[in-house]
Amino acid sequence: MTYQTLHLTCALNLSFLVLAACSPPPTDPSAPVLKADLYITAKGIYSGTREKADLKDIAVENGSIICTSGAKSCAKHIGENTKTVDFDGYVYPGFTDSHAHLLGIGQREMTLNLEGTSSITDLKGRVQSYMDQLPQDQPIIGRGWIETHWPENRFPTREDLDAVSTDRAIILSRSDGHASVANSKALELSGITAQTEAPFGGDILRGRNDAPTGMLIDTAQGLVAALIPAQTADRNREAYIKGGEVYSGYGWTGLHNMSVAPGDVAVMQTLSQDGDMPLRIFNSLNYEASAPDVLSANTSNINARVTTRSIKLYIDGALGSRGAALLEPYDDDPGNRGLILLKKDEAMEIFKSSLRNGTQVNTHAIGDRGNRIVLDWYEEAFAAVPESERAVKDPRWRVEHAQILNLDDLDRFKSLGVIPSMQPSHAIGDLHFAPARIGVERLKGGYAWQSLLDSGVVIAAGSDAPVERGDPRIEFYAAVARKDQSGFSGDGWYPEQAVSRLNALKMLTLWPAYASFREDVLGTIEVGKIADFTVFSDDIMTIDEADILTVKPVATVVGGKVTGE
Ligand SMILES: [Zn+2]
Repeated sequence: MTYQTLHLTCALNLSFLVLAACSPPPTDPSAPVLKADLYITAKGIYSGTREKADLKDIAVENGSIICTSGAKSCAKHIGENTKTVDFDGYVYPGFTDSHAHLLGIGQREMTLNLEGTSSITDLKGRVQSYMDQLPQDQPIIGRGWIETHWPENRFPTREDLDAVSTDRAIILSRSDGHASVANSKALELSGITAQTEAPFGGDILRGRNDAPTGMLIDTAQGLVAALIPAQTADRNREAYIKGGEVYSGYGWTGLHNMSVAPGDVAVMQTLSQDGDMPLRIFNSLNYEASAPDVLSANTSNINARVTTRSIKLYIDGALGSRGAALLEPYDDDPGNRGLILLKKDEAMEIFKSSLRNGTQVNTHAIGDRGNRIVLDWYEEAFAAVPESERAVKDPRWRVEHAQILNLDDLDRFKSLGVIPSMQPSHAIGDLHFAPARIGVERLKGGYAWQSLLDSGVVIAAGSDAPVERGDPRIEFYAAVARKDQSGFSGDGWYPEQAVSRLNALKMLTLWPAYASFREDVLGTIEVGKIADFTVFSDDIMTIDEADILTVKPVATVVGGKVTGE
């Protein structure tokens, strides 16, 4: 029995479950060698389990890896119909964004994209030129501004936008999606006055005589939602297609799609079946009335491109807009400890039924109080529903962001079996203003990647796009450098929380697979696994830190299908 035939038999048995389930094949030297449909060589290939480019070639058949070797010995699988590719670059396990919003990524391409806005003056200029291109009767909807670097050093106001237009509604969301600014027309059409009370979980910022400034925080954004043109089925589909194109082009092979409307799952499934979705998608649904039905309909078929088995909840807001729930008040806003968006009795009902049904729970928590509450409630739910009553013994629940942790809570992720799902790019953006918000002392538990790894957990890393650009190079760079894109790092950045390159790679490949229950079939380049690969032009595991940001995404391979080559 040769090395290859062992692999072969395993590959032919591809029910995919566990490789260990493969029994040794009977010895038959005359048995024909399975021909691959794809054979890959490159400047270097990383299995993703070691620091080195440890493979020379890969053979793929029917979407699965049937051979890997350190000596081009998979070449015997080349047959007449084998597509052979020699990539001008380095092959890595498929990069997966553990937290992104695919619809929003597509929509960002379809509305006013305010990414990179440098000042309030710039914001006004962009709105003006966008407005000039739009039909008169349409409101101006934009997203992506962030004020933390602006020379004006303040939030935009309705007066700023009124300078552009007082007769057309303008609504511009902050890049984190946790706040929006509206002009006077938008406030008027929505009936928002000095007397309007903020809804639960939201805030209406006010100026003189309690008049709204135009800034709406968290759920208060819902007050102007009726002005935003309805997302028609066609526009929805178009946004998903655009999102898939953009993301695949960046080099991602998959994403964990957060805060998904249950009705959108069918859209993604259709696109995927029709070959119009170049990504492997793991959906986490908004908790809406139809969510339980969609979840129970979607069995966790691990070979499917679209898997839906999670729900997404929010305990608090974001640090930038001071909505993150803190144990002690904000340093720059004494008296404010942030917002709690979830009611305990409602959460506990959802948590308990999720344990019984095998639904993974992903809860957004940014502040130290938000994180502590989520861990407390998870712990209570785990105690209330013992393993014997659970559909999935190890439920792998997640805390999305896990940004600011009280040091006393750091080890609780490990003891509870909870996965921190974190965004390296948030750290290198937020750390510019986080010391002013909460001080350097509290930041000891901020974006604490290495401390969490030391505690024995894995981290599923992602970008939270469209909050961030959603570029795997930026996420990888941020994780290993912990400096901003210009190389800056300052007081309170805690450089010791940067991670090794191998850990950064795992945070974007193997550990997302674990966080979606698929580490047996995804996340590394090993025989029996699904052929999902990311190809970059250079070796991100060895080149200078700063050069990581400029490597080129060469191609992706998803289920053995090469895209962008
Ligand atoms: Zn998000």
